[in-house]
Amino acid sequence: MIYFNKVSKYYNDSYPALAGVDFVVSPGEFVTIVGHSGAGKSTLIKMILADEKPSEGSVFFESLDIGRLRGRDLINLRRRIGTVFQDFRLLPNKTAYENIAFAMEAAGKTDEEIESDVPHVLDLVDLGHKIFSFPHEMSGGERQRLAIARAIINQPEMIIADEPTGNLDPINTYEVVQILKKINDLGTTVILTTHNKGVVDSIGKRVITMEKGKIVRDDKAGSYVL
Ligand code: ADP
Repeated sequence: MIYFNKVSKYYNDSYPALAGVDFVVSPGEFVTIVGHSGAGKSTLIKMILADEKPSEGSVFFESLDIGRLRGRDLINLRRRIGTVFQDFRLLPNKTAYENIAFAMEAAGKTDEEIESDVPHVLDLVDLGHKIFSFPHEMSGGERQRLAIARAIINQPEMIIADEPTGNLDPINTYEVVQILKKINDLGTTVILTTHNKGVVDSIGKRVITMEKGKIVRDDKAGSYVL
């Protein structure tokens, strides 16, 4: 569960990036966050990842007050949340296999676990045929599917996908959305930000709309209404 309790964020003295944001994301939900550029979506995501702290209020992950976590507790939190970004953030000098193996090594997995799990997760994102390809040998959609595979390999409770389809054409966008839906069907909570009306409408789940740092709509099975 994620719980934003009256969260405001001031980067400087001008108007707040977030202004009294209150909401709960329950385990297993698929929540899409929409809003114009500057609405506060990235700031909200950064607070879940402890990359920024609230100026007022608190953000909880289960019973953990994220803004107060330090050291080992912060590392443990970040292990429980998989992340996917618009710019993929893959390691360019490593193959698809090695990109995922690297994330498993960092989480202390054994060589046996790596050898058995990497092909499996690549199949899940339809990249079994690209296992020994480097990112520059893959399309944008394939790179993003690899980034998703890496995000889920250590079985996080939640995936945060910040504009994951921002660089993709409609067909690759569709495939990435289908994979996020599949991951959600398998039980992982998904929080997605997007500008893409087609993406929101094709998911058909909860939509939070932000405007000037506030939540202005929260639709259980929403569509895009900016
Ligand atoms: P979105 O992701 O919806 O485009 P952001 O969360 O990036 O929105 O931005 C919300 C507001 O906060 C904007 O006015 C933006 O200029 C401001 N902002 C974001 N990051 C910073 C920062 N690091 N320093 C100062 N202002 C920032």
